[in-house]
Amino acid sequence: MPILRIALDTPLPQLFDYLCEEVVAPGSLVAVPFGRGDKIHVGVVLDRVDTSTQDLAKLKIVAQVIYDCPPLMASWRDLCQFASAYYHHPLGEVMVSSLPKNLRDANTAALTRAHQKNNASVTEAAKKLGAKNLAVKKLNASDTEISEIDTTLTLHPEQALAVAAINAAQGYTPFLLHGITGSGKTEVYLQAAAAVLARNQSAQVLILVPEINLTPQLLTRIEQRFHAHSVVCLHSGLSEGARLRSWLHAHSGGASIVLGTRLAIMASVPNLALIIVDEEHDASYKQQEGWHYSARDLAIWRAHQLAIPIVLGSATPSIETWYAAQNKRYQLLTLNQRAGDAKPPQIRCIDTGVHKTIDGLSQVLITAVRERLNAREQVLLFLNRRGYAPVLSCGLCAWVSECPNCNATLVLHTADKRLHCHLCAAQSPIPRACPTCGNPDIAALGRGTQRIEESLATQFATRADGSAITVLRIDADSVRKKGSAEEAFAKVHRGEIDILVGTQMVSKGHDFRGINLVAVLNADAALFSGDFRAGERLFAQLMQVAGRAGRASDTSEVLIQTRYPSHPLYDALIKQDYAAYATVLLEERSSAGLPPFSHQVILRAQARTMEAALEFLTYASELLSENPALVINSPIPMNVAKIANLCRAQLLIESNSRSQLQNALTPWVAALYQMKSRIRWQLEVDPHDV
Ligand code: ADP
Ligand code: ZN
Ligand code: ZN
Repeated sequence: MPILRIALDTPLPQLFDYLCEEVVAPGSLVAVPFGRGDKIHVGVVLDRVDTSTQDLAKLKIVAQVIYDCPPLMASWRDLCQFASAYYHHPLGEVMVSSLPKNLRDANTAALTRAHQKNNASVTEAAKKLGAKNLAVKKLNASDTEISEIDTTLTLHPEQALAVAAINAAQGYTPFLLHGITGSGKTEVYLQAAAAVLARNQSAQVLILVPEINLTPQLLTRIEQRFHAHSVVCLHSGLSEGARLRSWLHAHSGGASIVLGTRLAIMASVPNLALIIVDEEHDASYKQQEGWHYSARDLAIWRAHQLAIPIVLGSATPSIETWYAAQNKRYQLLTLNQRAGDAKPPQIRCIDTGVHKTIDGLSQVLITAVRERLNAREQVLLFLNRRGYAPVLSCGLCAWVSECPNCNATLVLHTADKRLHCHLCAAQSPIPRACPTCGNPDIAALGRGTQRIEESLATQFATRADGSAITVLRIDADSVRKKGSAEEAFAKVHRGEIDILVGTQMVSKGHDFRGINLVAVLNADAALFSGDFRAGERLFAQLMQVAGRAGRASDTSEVLIQTRYPSHPLYDALIKQDYAAYATVLLEERSSAGLPPFSHQVILRAQARTMEAALEFLTYASELLSENPALVINSPIPMNVAKIANLCRAQLLIESNSRSQLQNALTPWVAALYQMKSRIRWQLEVDPHDV
């Protein structure tokens, strides 16, 4: 009987051989008995081979070939092979975890039963997956947001140049589309995609966005623009049935536009002709669980493999991408003007050393807010810290509210009058007095969104004409219920809210037409963070928040309360000069030998004690052979050294040569798998947080 070499969803790095009577093409999905109890697993056939490295007598037989799913193409398998090799994660896990859950799980139960009965056909089982209906479900964008139908716009000259350059691209051509919020990047994506589909009816375009639920307007626009084609969505918020339908529609080549979050980069898109990565700098393109990958970086690899153009769009590109554009590895397309009539907002700093704050607000800010409210405009207050106050503390002794399980303080929440840890699920009642010294006068230190919401409600109860002011808070706490975020945003869009207070949840995507003043509170902490990417992230975040102001006005303003108004970050922000700040950052990185001037890999370990975690990493570092191309740092506790009673430590490895670093990692990771240590570890290639 012929032998099939199969990738299975197990943490073991090897492939597995099975016997199969049928002629099965590589890329086919099969159900096979595996492990204890011969539980049925779904795997991907990689190869047909004549001889097995395993004992022939012990080879098991494939239970079923899943004919309902057409074989996955070689290009998809190559993508998985690359991802597995580059991120040093077992191929089977990479492949199988990239398939919709219903293909790999729900039917294994059905198939196990089928296998046991030995007669029920797999087609039956596959039908039970809910895959029978390939009709594309209407995308569920909130229709409260945009009433006018989206039409193709006449491009302004910069946009026209960008679209023309993308249309003219032949073969692998990476573009960086750099333009501030509202400069018309989306219109460029849509017209470039339309051109690809006009040239080739069977072509497919993959559009990646950071978070679909935060950008319903983009979804609506795409859906309206491409209503004649089929558009499918792929993200983790879909029901398993819907996800399977979308995935199969992309896999069958039927979907012209595949719009998705980071997980969509691993979808099978056989006629892929153009990739677009919107907000390419966004941290959510990094997968931080299971196998750790960057969807943006895989998108670049995929475009290269298929010899197609790729557009990375951002107002604040990642420094890596910017550097590639400076070096002409990526072609830079720039949109300098806001599209339409609106001018960009004026950005100003309020020096809180001069203008003292009361309850977190300076008088200058209060006056500016009041003027906007009296003019019946909306105001956005941005504060990236939820809860009431980040810590409770005692003024007499050194007591602070600390999480018993984590290296973090317990945050005071007034909504449920409890203390919450934001890292683990720990909660406790608010003590009446200091648990250490009995002092009844313990104080809430610092400010979160709940506390600011409270001071706003007292500060701005009414307008000059006596009419009432409505304050709304949007953060992870206020919109826990499904659908409540959409409803909250809809209220803002309908103009029912006068002051919106929010965390980074409000900074993305939304086109708030009535907001002409954005105020930023308490952003300074990131200026002094130990993480070398903190400044880059803060700049991107503040530019994004600033982009919420004045999408439909000429007199919009962004006010930033800070103790450090002359910091280069704020200086560049005021001038809205990303390039200036990027130059500062590139100089810093270059002199410190940090990415993109070097390459990094981190091995992270978690254990019950810090000693055990560090000991594991020390042992691991000794397994790395002497290599002059590598800098192997000493293992250290992570910044947040304990979460949920697990101690966390890390080992940073750096190199100027990506290929030498990769070459060293391959045998090393194999040795780590051999260790069979009980310590949990993960490898992070090109880590974001160091
Ligand atoms: P970005 O994606 O860069 O934030 P968008 O593509 O969403 O920008 O454009 C911002 C606004 O400007 C949208 O309301 C869009 O309809 C409008 N717009 C974009 N391009 C044009 C154009 N060429 N003419 C008129 N309006 C435009
Ligand atoms: Zn005390
Ligand atoms: Zn905790």
